[in-house]
Amino acid sequence: MCHWGDTVQVVLPEGHPTERERVRLIDRCLAPVVSALNAAGVWTTASCCGHGKRPGTIALVDGRECTILPDFESGRRVDALFPLTIQGTPSDRWTKALEEAAKAAHAASSPGVPWETLRPESRAAWRKELEPGLRAGLPILLVKHP
Ligand SMILES: [Zn+2]
Repeated sequence: MCHWGDTVQVVLPEGHPTERERVRLIDRCLAPVVSALNAAGVWTTASCCGHGKRPGTIALVDGRECTILPDFESGRRVDALFPLTIQGTPSDRWTKALEEAAKAAHAASSPGVPWETLRPESRAAWRKELEPGLRAGLPILLVKHP
């Protein structure tokens, strides 16, 4: 990541939708990526590397936005924020976080009553039950009653 203000000029290719502003000042560390995207016809409209303080972004003219993370681990942490895998099944990390929240809620509401650990077969049923809510993006807190 570069420091704020450490920019280089990037000349966007002809045909870019913002034809009048073809010369842009782009954060030095993102300039090669921004140049490559535009050269490939993936038009960008704004970008910032985050300067080591937050994720970088590259906004595309079509409304999408690319998030730039500093490393693999950061990518996995952001990935874990999403409840579904790319196959549409609940993410293990996310369901584990839900289970921990459910255990905490159970401990608070039923002190001294042991938490029943879900067996693999019941875990599958549990996931199936949760899936419609997960697909709808609803926050779900499980409270297991004795
Ligand atoms: Zn930078």
